[in-house]
Amino acid sequence: MQKIAILYDASQAVLSTFELDEVLSRILVIARDFFHLQHAAVLLLDKEKEDLYVRRQIGGAPELDHARFPLGKGIVGIAAQKKRPICVPDVSKDNRYIQVIPGTRAELAIPLIVNGEVAGVLDCQSENPGHFDSETTDLLALFSTQASMALQNAELYTLERQRAAQLRAINSIAQEMNAVLDLKELLSRIGPLIRQAFLVSHVSILVKHEDEVMLMASSGDLTSIFEEGSLIPGERAPCAQAFVTGKTTIENDVKTLPEYVALCHETASRISIPLVSFSQVLGMLVLDSNKLRRFSDDEVQPLESVAGICATAIQNAHYVDRVKQLAYLDGLTGIFNRRYFELRMAEELERARRFNTSMSVIMIDIDHFKRLNDEYGHLLGDEVLRQVSSIFNQQVRKVDVVCRYGGEEFAILLSQTDPHYSLAIAEKLRTTVNAWSFPGVPRSVTISAGAATYPAHGTTRDELVKAADSALYAAKQAGRNCVRLADGIARGVAQSAGK
Ligand code: GH3
Ligand code: MG
Ligand code: MG
Repeated sequence: MQKIAILYDASQAVLSTFELDEVLSRILVIARDFFHLQHAAVLLLDKEKEDLYVRRQIGGAPELDHARFPLGKGIVGIAAQKKRPICVPDVSKDNRYIQVIPGTRAELAIPLIVNGEVAGVLDCQSENPGHFDSETTDLLALFSTQASMALQNAELYTLERQRAAQLRAINSIAQEMNAVLDLKELLSRIGPLIRQAFLVSHVSILVKHEDEVMLMASSGDLTSIFEEGSLIPGERAPCAQAFVTGKTTIENDVKTLPEYVALCHETASRISIPLVSFSQVLGMLVLDSNKLRRFSDDEVQPLESVAGICATAIQNAHYVDRVKQLAYLDGLTGIFNRRYFELRMAEELERARRFNTSMSVIMIDIDHFKRLNDEYGHLLGDEVLRQVSSIFNQQVRKVDVVCRYGGEEFAILLSQTDPHYSLAIAEKLRTTVNAWSFPGVPRSVTISAGAATYPAHGTTRDELVKAADSALYAAKQAGRNCVRLADGIARGVAQSAGK
Protein backbone atom coordinates (compact mmCIF):
# COMPACT_ATOMS: atom_id res chain seq x y z
CA MET A 1 0.00 0.00 0.00
CA GLN A 2 2.82 2.29 0.97
CA LYS A 3 4.50 1.56 -2.35
CA ILE A 4 1.48 2.63 -4.29
CA ALA A 5 1.19 5.78 -2.19
CA ILE A 6 4.74 6.90 -2.92
CA LEU A 7 4.45 6.22 -6.65
CA TYR A 8 1.16 8.09 -6.68
CA ASP A 9 2.75 11.06 -4.90
CA ALA A 10 5.62 11.06 -7.35
CA SER A 11 3.34 10.94 -10.38
CA GLN A 12 1.28 13.81 -8.95
CA ALA A 13 4.49 15.80 -8.58
CA VAL A 14 5.38 15.13 -12.23
CA LEU A 15 1.95 16.20 -13.41
CA SER A 16 1.84 19.33 -11.23
CA THR A 17 4.03 21.56 -13.41
CA PHE A 18 6.17 21.68 -16.54
CA GLU A 19 8.96 23.49 -14.74
CA LEU A 20 11.69 20.90 -14.46
CA ASP A 21 13.37 22.21 -11.31
CA GLU A 22 10.07 22.46 -9.50
CA VAL A 23 9.15 18.85 -10.41
CA LEU A 24 12.58 17.56 -9.43
CA SER A 25 12.47 19.35 -6.08
CA ARG A 26 9.11 17.79 -5.26
CA ILE A 27 10.28 14.33 -6.30
CA LEU A 28 13.44 14.65 -4.21
CA VAL A 29 11.49 15.71 -1.12
CA ILE A 30 9.23 12.67 -1.49
CA ALA A 31 12.24 10.38 -1.94
CA ARG A 32 14.09 11.80 1.05
CA ASP A 33 11.10 11.60 3.36
CA PHE A 34 9.87 8.23 2.28
CA PHE A 35 13.22 6.48 2.02
CA HIS A 36 14.86 8.35 4.90
CA LEU A 37 17.75 9.60 2.82
CA GLN A 38 20.49 11.88 4.03
CA HIS A 39 21.05 13.20 0.55
CA ALA A 40 19.19 12.90 -2.76
CA ALA A 41 20.05 14.50 -6.07
CA VAL A 42 19.21 14.45 -9.75
CA LEU A 43 22.27 14.82 -11.93
CA LEU A 44 22.00 15.47 -15.66
CA LEU A 45 24.33 14.26 -18.38
CA ASP A 46 26.31 16.83 -20.37
CA LYS A 47 26.78 14.87 -23.61
CA GLU A 48 29.44 17.14 -24.97
CA LYS A 49 31.63 17.20 -21.88
CA GLU A 50 30.75 13.58 -21.08
CA ASP A 51 30.12 14.30 -17.44
CA LEU A 52 27.26 14.77 -14.99
CA TYR A 53 26.30 17.91 -13.12
CA VAL A 54 23.89 18.43 -10.23
CA ARG A 55 20.60 19.81 -11.50
CA ARG A 56 18.72 19.56 -8.21
CA GLN A 57 19.80 18.29 -4.79
CA ILE A 58 18.46 18.07 -1.31
CA GLY A 59 20.48 17.57 1.85
CA GLY A 60 23.94 18.16 0.32
CA ALA A 61 26.28 21.15 0.41
CA PRO A 62 25.77 24.23 -1.84
CA GLU A 63 29.23 23.64 -3.40
CA LEU A 64 27.78 20.54 -4.99
CA ASP A 65 25.72 22.75 -7.31
CA HIS A 66 28.87 23.34 -9.36
CA ALA A 67 30.46 19.89 -9.05
CA ARG A 68 30.99 17.76 -12.19
CA PHE A 69 31.25 13.96 -12.22
CA PRO A 70 32.94 12.35 -15.22
CA LEU A 71 31.21 9.39 -16.88
CA GLY A 72 32.56 6.09 -15.60
CA LYS A 73 33.97 7.62 -12.38
CA GLY A 74 32.38 7.34 -8.93
CA ILE A 75 29.06 5.60 -8.30
CA VAL A 76 26.95 8.09 -10.30
CA GLY A 77 29.41 8.12 -13.21
CA ILE A 78 29.47 4.32 -13.38
CA ALA A 79 25.65 4.03 -13.17
CA ALA A 80 25.31 6.49 -16.10
CA GLN A 81 27.95 4.74 -18.16
CA LYS A 82 26.67 1.20 -17.51
CA LYS A 83 23.03 2.26 -17.85
CA ARG A 84 22.03 0.29 -14.76
CA PRO A 85 21.57 1.02 -11.06
CA ILE A 86 24.68 0.70 -8.90
CA CYS A 87 24.15 -0.04 -5.23
CA VAL A 88 26.97 0.25 -2.69
CA PRO A 89 25.84 -1.11 0.69
CA ASP A 90 29.00 0.03 2.48
CA VAL A 91 31.00 2.81 0.87
CA SER A 92 34.04 2.15 3.06
CA LYS A 93 34.44 -1.22 1.39
CA ASP A 94 34.02 -0.17 -2.21
CA ASN A 95 36.91 1.51 -4.00
CA ARG A 96 34.59 2.83 -6.75
CA TYR A 97 33.14 5.23 -4.20
CA ILE A 98 34.39 8.81 -4.18
CA GLN A 99 33.47 10.75 -1.08
CA VAL A 100 31.54 13.93 -1.69
CA ILE A 101 29.24 14.17 1.29
CA PRO A 102 30.75 13.40 4.72
CA GLY A 103 28.82 10.85 6.73
CA THR A 104 27.54 8.84 3.78
CA ARG A 105 27.68 5.10 4.40
CA ALA A 106 25.55 3.68 1.58
CA GLU A 107 24.83 4.95 -1.94
CA LEU A 108 22.43 3.99 -4.68
CA ALA A 109 22.66 5.57 -8.15
CA ILE A 110 19.90 4.89 -10.67
CA PRO A 111 20.25 6.02 -14.30
CA LEU A 112 17.37 8.08 -15.67
CA ILE A 113 16.55 6.84 -19.13
CA VAL A 114 14.71 9.04 -21.64
CA ASN A 115 13.95 7.61 -25.09
CA GLY A 116 16.37 4.76 -24.49
CA GLU A 117 19.27 7.07 -23.63
CA VAL A 118 20.76 8.06 -20.30
CA ALA A 119 19.65 11.59 -19.49
CA GLY A 120 20.90 11.68 -15.92
CA VAL A 121 21.15 9.88 -12.61
CA LEU A 122 19.03 9.79 -9.44
CA ASP A 123 21.54 9.60 -6.62
CA CYS A 124 20.47 8.48 -3.12
CA GLN A 125 22.76 8.47 -0.10
CA SER A 126 22.21 7.25 3.43
CA GLU A 127 24.07 7.34 6.74
CA ASN A 128 23.20 3.69 7.37
CA PRO A 129 25.27 0.90 5.86
CA GLY A 130 23.05 -1.58 4.04
CA HIS A 131 20.25 0.99 3.87
CA PHE A 132 19.37 0.02 0.31
CA ASP A 133 18.11 -3.53 0.56
CA SER A 134 16.75 -5.18 -2.56
CA GLU A 135 13.16 -4.08 -1.91
CA THR A 136 14.18 -0.43 -1.39
CA THR A 137 16.36 -0.59 -4.48
CA ASP A 138 13.50 -1.96 -6.60
CA LEU A 139 11.09 0.62 -5.30
CA LEU A 140 13.55 3.46 -5.89
CA ALA A 141 14.16 2.15 -9.42
CA LEU A 142 10.41 2.29 -10.03
CA PHE A 143 10.28 5.70 -8.42
CA SER A 144 13.08 6.93 -10.63
CA THR A 145 10.93 6.39 -13.72
CA GLN A 146 8.87 9.35 -12.50
CA ALA A 147 11.97 11.50 -12.51
CA SER A 148 12.72 10.27 -16.04
CA MET A 149 9.22 11.22 -17.07
CA ALA A 150 9.67 14.69 -15.62
CA LEU A 151 12.84 15.07 -17.69
CA GLN A 152 11.06 13.90 -20.81
CA ASN A 153 8.15 16.26 -20.22
CA ALA A 154 10.51 19.14 -19.63
CA GLU A 155 12.38 18.32 -22.83
CA LEU A 156 9.13 18.21 -24.80
CA TYR A 157 7.94 21.40 -23.17
CA THR A 158 11.16 23.22 -24.06
CA LEU A 159 10.90 21.82 -27.58
CA GLU A 160 7.31 23.03 -27.82
CA ARG A 161 8.32 26.48 -26.67
CA GLN A 162 11.17 26.50 -29.16
CA ARG A 163 8.81 25.35 -31.93
CA ALA A 164 6.43 28.18 -31.09
CA ALA A 165 9.34 30.64 -31.24
CA GLN A 166 10.40 29.16 -34.58
CA LEU A 167 6.90 29.50 -35.98
CA ARG A 168 6.83 33.13 -34.86
CA ALA A 169 10.20 33.66 -36.56
CA ILE A 170 9.00 32.06 -39.81
CA ASN A 171 6.00 34.33 -39.66
CA SER A 172 8.04 37.48 -39.14
CA ILE A 173 10.47 36.44 -41.90
CA ALA A 174 7.50 36.08 -44.26
CA GLN A 175 6.30 39.53 -43.22
CA GLU A 176 9.76 41.03 -43.75
CA MET A 177 9.70 39.60 -47.24
CA ASN A 178 6.60 41.57 -48.07
CA ALA A 179 7.98 44.73 -46.53
CA VAL A 180 11.55 44.72 -47.86
CA LEU A 181 12.10 44.78 -51.61
CA ASP A 182 15.88 44.88 -51.69
CA LEU A 183 17.19 41.30 -51.59
CA LYS A 184 20.43 42.06 -49.80
CA GLU A 185 18.69 44.02 -47.10
CA LEU A 186 16.02 41.35 -46.72
CA LEU A 187 18.56 38.54 -46.32
CA SER A 188 20.61 40.50 -43.82
CA ARG A 189 17.47 41.09 -41.74
CA ILE A 190 16.51 37.41 -41.88
CA GLY A 191 19.85 36.24 -40.40
CA PRO A 192 19.33 37.61 -36.85
CA LEU A 193 15.71 36.37 -36.80
CA ILE A 194 16.88 32.83 -37.54
CA ARG A 195 19.62 33.03 -34.89
CA GLN A 196 17.10 34.04 -32.30
CA ALA A 197 14.54 31.40 -33.18
CA PHE A 198 16.97 28.51 -33.56
CA LEU A 199 19.47 29.60 -30.90
CA VAL A 200 22.57 29.16 -33.07
CA SER A 201 25.91 30.94 -33.08
CA HIS A 202 26.00 32.02 -36.71
CA VAL A 203 23.75 32.25 -39.78
CA SER A 204 24.98 32.73 -43.35
CA ILE A 205 23.14 32.94 -46.64
CA LEU A 206 24.96 32.00 -49.83
CA VAL A 207 23.51 32.79 -53.25
CA LYS A 208 24.65 31.30 -56.56
CA HIS A 209 25.91 33.71 -59.23
CA GLU A 210 26.61 31.68 -62.36
CA ASP A 211 29.77 29.68 -61.51
CA GLU A 212 30.39 31.51 -58.26
CA VAL A 213 28.72 31.74 -54.87
CA MET A 214 28.16 35.04 -53.08
CA LEU A 215 28.02 35.40 -49.30
CA MET A 216 24.94 37.64 -49.20
CA ALA A 217 24.40 37.72 -45.44
CA SER A 218 26.48 36.71 -42.43
CA SER A 219 25.30 37.28 -38.89
CA GLY A 220 26.46 35.94 -35.55
CA ASP A 221 29.18 35.54 -32.95
CA LEU A 222 31.60 33.37 -34.94
CA THR A 223 34.41 34.76 -37.09
CA SER A 224 33.36 34.64 -40.71
CA ILE A 225 36.16 33.70 -43.11
CA PHE A 226 34.57 35.61 -45.99
CA GLU A 227 33.37 39.18 -46.07
CA GLU A 228 29.74 39.89 -46.80
CA GLY A 229 29.35 40.37 -50.53
CA SER A 230 32.43 38.37 -51.47
CA LEU A 231 32.34 35.93 -54.37
CA ILE A 232 33.70 32.41 -53.91
CA PRO A 233 34.47 30.19 -56.90
CA GLY A 234 31.80 27.45 -57.06
CA GLU A 235 34.21 24.54 -56.77
CA ARG A 236 35.77 26.03 -53.61
CA ALA A 237 32.49 27.12 -52.02
CA PRO A 238 31.40 25.81 -48.61
CA CYS A 239 28.58 23.24 -48.52
CA ALA A 240 29.44 22.04 -52.03
CA GLN A 241 27.76 18.70 -51.36
CA ALA A 242 24.41 20.29 -50.45
CA PHE A 243 24.67 22.46 -53.58
CA VAL A 244 25.03 19.33 -55.71
CA THR A 245 22.45 17.10 -53.99
CA GLY A 246 19.93 19.85 -53.20
CA LYS A 247 19.38 18.14 -49.84
CA THR A 248 19.74 19.44 -46.29
CA THR A 249 23.06 18.29 -44.88
CA ILE A 250 24.03 18.05 -41.22
CA GLU A 251 27.75 18.00 -40.46
CA ASN A 252 27.93 17.18 -36.78
CA ASP A 253 31.69 17.11 -36.38
CA VAL A 254 33.25 19.14 -39.18
CA LYS A 255 36.83 18.30 -38.19
CA THR A 256 36.29 14.69 -39.19
CA LEU A 257 35.14 15.54 -42.73
CA PRO A 258 37.80 15.32 -45.46
CA GLU A 259 36.13 17.75 -47.91
CA TYR A 260 34.92 20.28 -45.36
CA VAL A 261 35.18 23.95 -46.42
CA ALA A 262 34.62 26.37 -43.54
CA LEU A 263 32.50 29.51 -43.49
CA CYS A 264 33.50 30.41 -39.92
CA HIS A 265 36.71 29.70 -38.02
CA GLU A 266 35.22 28.31 -34.78
CA THR A 267 32.62 25.98 -36.36
CA ALA A 268 32.32 22.54 -34.77
CA SER A 269 29.02 21.52 -36.40
CA ARG A 270 26.88 22.91 -39.17
CA ILE A 271 23.61 22.43 -41.03
CA SER A 272 23.21 23.52 -44.68
CA ILE A 273 19.73 23.92 -46.10
CA PRO A 274 19.51 24.44 -49.87
CA LEU A 275 17.39 27.35 -51.10
CA VAL A 276 15.38 25.62 -53.79
CA SER A 277 12.92 27.21 -56.19
CA PHE A 278 11.38 25.27 -59.10
CA SER A 279 13.85 22.41 -58.47
CA GLN A 280 16.79 24.76 -58.86
CA VAL A 281 19.27 25.30 -56.04
CA LEU A 282 19.57 29.09 -55.87
CA GLY A 283 21.67 29.21 -52.72
CA MET A 284 22.23 27.89 -49.24
CA LEU A 285 21.11 28.78 -45.74
CA VAL A 286 23.90 27.74 -43.37
CA LEU A 287 23.73 27.58 -39.57
CA ASP A 288 27.10 27.22 -37.82
CA SER A 289 27.66 26.25 -34.20
CA ASN A 290 30.81 26.14 -32.10
CA LYS A 291 29.36 23.09 -30.35
CA LEU A 292 29.71 19.55 -31.59
CA ARG A 293 26.55 17.72 -32.67
CA ARG A 294 24.43 20.84 -32.30
CA PHE A 295 21.94 19.97 -35.05
CA SER A 296 19.32 17.24 -35.16
CA ASP A 297 16.70 16.09 -37.64
CA ASP A 298 14.02 17.85 -35.54
CA GLU A 299 15.14 21.22 -36.81
CA VAL A 300 15.23 20.31 -40.48
CA GLN A 301 11.57 20.89 -41.22
CA PRO A 302 11.19 24.38 -39.70
CA LEU A 303 14.52 25.39 -41.25
CA GLU A 304 13.37 24.18 -44.64
CA SER A 305 10.31 26.41 -44.26
CA VAL A 306 12.59 29.38 -43.66
CA ALA A 307 14.75 28.32 -46.60
CA GLY A 308 11.63 28.18 -48.79
CA ILE A 309 10.87 31.81 -47.96
CA CYS A 310 14.46 32.86 -48.73
CA ALA A 311 14.40 30.94 -52.03
CA THR A 312 11.20 32.71 -53.08
CA ALA A 313 12.74 36.08 -52.20
CA ILE A 314 15.81 35.31 -54.31
CA GLN A 315 13.66 34.08 -57.18
CA ASN A 316 11.57 37.26 -57.02
CA ALA A 317 14.72 39.38 -57.06
CA HIS A 318 15.91 37.47 -60.14
CA TYR A 319 12.56 38.16 -61.82
CA VAL A 320 12.78 41.85 -61.02
CA ASP A 321 16.33 41.95 -62.45
CA ARG A 322 15.18 40.13 -65.55
CA VAL A 323 12.25 42.48 -66.11
CA LYS A 324 14.55 45.46 -65.64
CA GLN A 325 16.98 43.91 -68.09
CA LEU A 326 14.29 43.24 -70.67
CA ALA A 327 13.23 46.85 -70.46
CA TYR A 328 16.75 47.85 -71.48
CA LEU A 329 17.40 45.24 -74.16
CA ASP A 330 16.70 45.44 -77.86
CA GLY A 331 14.44 42.62 -79.00
CA LEU A 332 16.06 42.00 -82.38
CA THR A 333 19.77 42.16 -81.59
CA GLY A 334 19.85 41.42 -77.83
CA ILE A 335 22.13 44.42 -77.21
CA PHE A 336 21.09 47.42 -75.09
CA ASN A 337 18.44 49.78 -76.40
CA ARG A 338 18.24 53.55 -76.60
CA ARG A 339 16.57 53.84 -73.20
CA TYR A 340 19.60 52.18 -71.63
CA PHE A 341 21.93 54.39 -73.63
CA GLU A 342 20.24 57.53 -72.24
CA LEU A 343 20.48 56.17 -68.70
CA ARG A 344 24.11 55.14 -68.91
CA MET A 345 25.10 58.28 -70.77
CA ALA A 346 23.82 60.37 -67.85
CA GLU A 347 25.70 58.15 -65.37
CA GLU A 348 28.95 58.15 -67.34
CA LEU A 349 28.85 61.91 -67.80
CA GLU A 350 28.33 62.36 -64.09
CA ARG A 351 31.26 60.07 -63.33
CA ALA A 352 33.51 61.85 -65.82
CA ARG A 353 32.58 65.19 -64.27
CA ARG A 354 33.22 63.95 -60.74
CA PHE A 355 36.56 62.30 -61.49
CA ASN A 356 37.59 64.89 -64.03
CA THR A 357 38.16 62.35 -66.79
CA SER A 358 37.06 62.17 -70.40
CA MET A 359 34.43 59.94 -71.98
CA SER A 360 33.38 59.43 -75.55
CA VAL A 361 30.36 58.52 -77.58
CA ILE A 362 30.41 57.04 -81.08
CA MET A 363 27.30 57.19 -83.30
CA ILE A 364 27.30 54.64 -86.12
CA ASP A 365 25.00 54.21 -89.10
CA ILE A 366 25.00 51.39 -91.65
CA ASP A 367 25.50 52.73 -95.15
CA HIS A 368 22.78 52.27 -97.74
CA PHE A 369 20.91 49.90 -95.53
CA LYS A 370 17.67 50.55 -97.35
CA ARG A 371 19.27 49.28 -100.53
CA LEU A 372 20.54 46.17 -98.70
CA ASN A 373 16.99 45.44 -97.57
CA ASP A 374 15.69 45.97 -101.06
CA GLU A 375 18.29 43.74 -102.65
CA TYR A 376 18.40 40.83 -100.19
CA GLY A 377 15.20 41.07 -98.23
CA HIS A 378 14.24 42.37 -94.83
CA LEU A 379 15.05 39.11 -93.05
CA LEU A 380 18.65 39.18 -94.24
CA GLY A 381 18.71 42.84 -93.24
CA ASP A 382 17.74 41.76 -89.73
CA GLU A 383 20.54 39.20 -89.67
CA VAL A 384 23.07 41.85 -90.74
CA LEU A 385 21.86 44.04 -87.84
CA ARG A 386 22.42 41.14 -85.42
CA GLN A 387 25.88 40.36 -86.76
CA VAL A 388 26.97 44.00 -86.77
CA SER A 389 25.82 44.26 -83.12
CA SER A 390 27.84 41.23 -82.23
CA ILE A 391 30.96 42.54 -84.01
CA PHE A 392 30.68 45.81 -82.05
CA ASN A 393 30.31 43.96 -78.77
CA GLN A 394 33.37 41.85 -79.49
CA GLN A 395 35.57 44.75 -80.54
CA VAL A 396 35.05 47.02 -77.52
CA ARG A 397 36.06 46.59 -73.86
CA LYS A 398 33.75 44.95 -71.37
CA VAL A 399 33.08 48.29 -69.69
CA ASP A 400 31.95 49.93 -72.91
CA VAL A 401 28.26 50.00 -73.70
CA VAL A 402 26.99 49.08 -77.18
CA CYS A 403 23.39 50.13 -77.89
CA ARG A 404 21.00 50.01 -80.82
CA TYR A 405 19.98 53.62 -81.08
CA GLY A 406 17.19 52.90 -83.55
CA GLY A 407 16.78 51.35 -87.04
CA GLU A 408 20.29 50.73 -88.42
CA GLU A 409 21.91 53.21 -86.05
CA PHE A 410 24.10 52.36 -83.10
CA ALA A 411 25.58 54.32 -80.21
CA ILE A 412 28.62 53.25 -78.21
CA LEU A 413 29.65 54.71 -74.87
CA LEU A 414 33.35 54.59 -74.01
CA SER A 415 34.25 55.53 -70.47
CA GLN A 416 37.57 57.26 -69.73
CA THR A 417 38.34 57.60 -73.42
CA ASP A 418 39.92 60.57 -75.16
CA PRO A 419 39.15 61.76 -78.74
CA HIS A 420 42.15 60.05 -80.27
CA TYR A 421 41.33 56.65 -78.79
CA SER A 422 37.61 56.90 -79.55
CA LEU A 423 38.41 57.62 -83.18
CA ALA A 424 40.77 54.61 -83.26
CA ILE A 425 37.97 52.42 -81.88
CA ALA A 426 35.52 53.75 -84.47
CA GLU A 427 38.05 53.05 -87.19
CA LYS A 428 38.60 49.51 -85.92
CA LEU A 429 34.84 48.90 -86.06
CA ARG A 430 34.64 50.30 -89.55
CA THR A 431 37.43 48.12 -90.94
CA THR A 432 36.12 45.00 -89.20
CA VAL A 433 32.61 45.41 -90.63
CA ASN A 434 34.03 46.29 -94.03
CA ALA A 435 36.08 43.08 -94.09
CA TRP A 436 33.32 40.89 -92.68
CA SER A 437 31.62 38.47 -94.99
CA PHE A 438 27.94 38.37 -94.16
CA PRO A 439 26.32 35.10 -95.24
CA GLY A 440 23.92 35.75 -98.10
CA VAL A 441 25.38 39.17 -98.90
CA PRO A 442 27.87 38.86 -101.75
CA ARG A 443 29.36 42.33 -101.25
CA SER A 444 30.80 44.23 -98.35
CA VAL A 445 28.63 46.05 -95.85
CA THR A 446 29.98 49.38 -94.65
CA ILE A 447 29.34 51.76 -91.81
CA SER A 448 29.94 55.44 -91.14
CA ALA A 449 30.72 56.76 -87.66
CA GLY A 450 31.04 60.03 -85.76
CA ALA A 451 32.77 60.39 -82.41
CA ALA A 452 32.54 63.07 -79.74
CA THR A 453 34.31 63.39 -76.41
CA TYR A 454 33.49 65.00 -73.10
CA PRO A 455 34.49 67.71 -72.33
CA ALA A 456 36.14 68.69 -75.64
CA HIS A 457 33.00 68.52 -77.82
CA GLY A 458 30.25 69.07 -75.32
CA THR A 459 29.50 68.96 -71.62
CA THR A 460 25.87 67.77 -71.60
CA ARG A 461 24.23 64.65 -72.95
CA ASP A 462 22.42 66.54 -75.72
CA GLU A 463 25.52 68.46 -76.74
CA LEU A 464 27.60 65.31 -77.00
CA VAL A 465 25.01 63.30 -78.94
CA LYS A 466 24.48 66.24 -81.25
CA ALA A 467 28.23 66.61 -81.79
CA ALA A 468 28.66 62.89 -82.53
CA ASP A 469 25.64 63.00 -84.86
CA SER A 470 27.09 65.94 -86.76
CA ALA A 471 30.38 64.04 -87.08
CA LEU A 472 28.43 61.04 -88.44
CA TYR A 473 26.68 63.33 -90.92
CA ALA A 474 30.09 64.65 -91.95
CA ALA A 475 31.27 61.07 -92.54
CA LYS A 476 28.23 60.39 -94.70
CA GLN A 477 28.87 63.61 -96.60
CA ALA A 478 32.45 62.56 -97.12
CA GLY A 479 31.20 59.55 -99.08
CA ARG A 480 30.39 56.96 -96.31
CA ASN A 481 32.56 54.05 -95.06
CA CYS A 482 34.62 56.43 -92.96
CA VAL A 483 34.82 57.92 -89.46
CA ARG A 484 34.90 61.53 -88.30
CA LEU A 485 35.53 63.29 -85.04
CA ALA A 486 33.13 65.99 -83.80
CA ASP A 487 33.51 69.51 -85.20
CA GLY A 488 34.05 67.85 -88.53
CA ILE A 489 37.74 67.46 -87.80
CA ALA A 490 39.21 64.24 -89.14
CA ARG A 491 42.32 63.22 -87.27
CA GLY A 492 44.88 60.45 -87.09
CA VAL A 493 43.65 57.14 -88.36
CA ALA A 494 40.41 58.68 -89.51
CA GLN A 495 42.19 60.66 -92.15
CA SER A 496 43.59 57.58 -93.79
CA ALA A 497 40.10 56.08 -93.84
CA GLY A 498 38.45 59.22 -95.10
CA LYS A 499 37.32 59.38 -98.67
P1 GH3 B 1 22.42 55.98 -95.45
O1 GH3 B 1 23.66 55.42 -96.00
O2 GH3 B 1 22.24 57.41 -95.81
O3 GH3 B 1 22.31 55.75 -94.01
O4 GH3 B 1 21.27 55.21 -96.21
P2 GH3 B 1 20.27 54.17 -95.53
O5 GH3 B 1 19.54 53.52 -96.61
O6 GH3 B 1 21.02 53.29 -94.62
O7 GH3 B 1 19.35 55.12 -94.68
P3 GH3 B 1 17.82 55.30 -94.56
O8 GH3 B 1 17.57 56.08 -93.30
O9 GH3 B 1 17.27 55.91 -95.84
O10 GH3 B 1 17.22 53.87 -94.45
C1 GH3 B 1 17.35 53.08 -93.27
C2 GH3 B 1 16.70 51.77 -93.54
O11 GH3 B 1 16.90 50.86 -92.46
C3 GH3 B 1 15.21 51.93 -93.74
C4 GH3 B 1 14.60 50.79 -92.95
O12 GH3 B 1 13.76 49.98 -93.76
C5 GH3 B 1 15.80 49.98 -92.51
N1 GH3 B 1 15.55 49.44 -91.20
C6 GH3 B 1 15.31 50.08 -90.00
N2 GH3 B 1 15.11 49.21 -89.03
C7 GH3 B 1 15.24 47.96 -89.56
C8 GH3 B 1 15.14 46.65 -89.04
O13 GH3 B 1 14.90 46.43 -87.89
N3 GH3 B 1 15.33 45.62 -89.91
C9 GH3 B 1 15.59 45.79 -91.20
N4 GH3 B 1 15.78 44.74 -91.99
N5 GH3 B 1 15.69 47.01 -91.71
C10 GH3 B 1 15.51 48.10 -90.95
MG1 MG C 1 21.95 54.11 -92.93
MG1 MG D 1 19.91 55.78 -90.56
